Amino acid sequence: MATKKPYIIALEEHYQDAEVSRHTGGPGAGRDIVERLDDLGALRLGEMDESGIDFQVLSHSIPGLQGVDAATGVPLARRVNDRLNEAVHAHPDRFAAFAALPTADPRAAADELERTVTRLGFKGAMINGLTDGRFHDDQRFWPIYQRAAALDVPIYIHPALPQPAVVEAYYKDYAQKHPGLLRAGWGFNVETATQGIRFVLSGVFDAHPGLKVILGHLGEGIPFYLWRISHGLRASMSEKTFREIFCEHFWITTSGFFSDPALLCCVMEMGVDRILFSVDYPFMDNPPGAEWIKTLPLSAEDTQKLLNGNARRLLKLSNPAGAQLLNHKDLSLATALTIATTAAETCKGQGYRVSVTVVGRNGEIIAQLRGDDSGPHTIENSQKKAYTARTFRISSGEFVQRVKDNPTTGAVHLTGIVAAQGALPIKIGEDVIGAAGVSGAPGGDKDEACVKAGLDKVADQLK
Ligand code: ZN
Repeated sequence: MATKKPYIIALEEHYQDAEVSRHTGGPGAGRDIVERLDDLGALRLGEMDESGIDFQVLSHSIPGLQGVDAATGVPLARRVNDRLNEAVHAHPDRFAAFAALPTADPRAAADELERTVTRLGFKGAMINGLTDGRFHDDQRFWPIYQRAAALDVPIYIHPALPQPAVVEAYYKDYAQKHPGLLRAGWGFNVETATQGIRFVLSGVFDAHPGLKVILGHLGEGIPFYLWRISHGLRASMSEKTFREIFCEHFWITTSGFFSDPALLCCVMEMGVDRILFSVDYPFMDNPPGAEWIKTLPLSAEDTQKLLNGNARRLLKLSNPAGAQLLNHKDLSLATALTIATTAAETCKGQGYRVSVTVVGRNGEIIAQLRGDDSGPHTIENSQKKAYTARTFRISSGEFVQRVKDNPTTGAVHLTGIVAAQGALPIKIGEDVIGAAGVSGAPGGDKDEACVKAGLDKVADQLK
């Protein structure tokens, strides 16, 4: 029997916004790469299909908004993220997004993070290199991390070209002949690893215990050095070791680093649950990554965690089976309820989540029907998941009544269907928007099979 191809999520996958690139000059890449950075349609999707990459979490390439000043960056961020949101909405079953943040104004950056997460369904944010020559562990940036922790979304710390003074002192004499030395050849890694170490030393994880940080490129070398760094800092870090803090707050991806020995080192130091597949497209091509994962030295279960389960858990991604239905428009409330009820029946007693949610004009959740056995959906839980307001555990009859009673949903038409395992990836438009969905606890083939069964029934009803 042929083995089914695993579902593959990649989350350090870049594009560029033309307006940002006009300000920054772009990443300084060749024409091939720039052509791919510019594309969020046929070229990208075709290359994903050829390599079996099912889903990309998109992020702006270097230097991004870290390369612009506050006055320019704040209004620009809104336009950039709104445009990215449009690209995601054109292919919601293939793309999600990390926000670009105007870090030169950290408070505005925190607000933009919240807007993109709660209103646009973004999965977190990516920050490139340094801002104004400062590492991002600096306390001035902590409003961003306070907000990220409150929203329960990760911040991806990504490299950019090293500081000019560092280039001058460390690399200049070789950089002309070996330009890669400033980038993947060494400069990127050492600067981003330094940033990761500084995050741990800064105390930001004491101030914001929920903060989650992602590092690409297999943790920029930190896992390899973990024992030595912890040992070297033991005298000044007696309460919690460097290792403990790093392994509690950091996740790493395989972006641009397809090496079995390096991966095994990371698995041994951090555990497989902390490692997520990524390519670093288009700075890396998809095929080497896709080929590499066919022969990973991991069990089937661990491979699945690496390829999709860990990403689903960390980013609260919709189940891919659920995402199939995103394009069904203008469902009536009655249909949405039937969908939820039918799916709930199918999944009953197995702990899977099934829900219909109606969202008001201001993004508030007006009512939610849950047909699962996952326990009460409390306000605290909802806030943790970045829901914007009240949710209820109520019967379908009460649900209908609540929707009817609410003046903003008098003429409700559900405009999207999502599998909402966490934040709602739906667009708040002119009309009231509702969402019906089915999702499993993320990760695991069994979840997918269950959700698929529920959705097949739903699909029958939509015919
Ligand atoms: Zn990258």
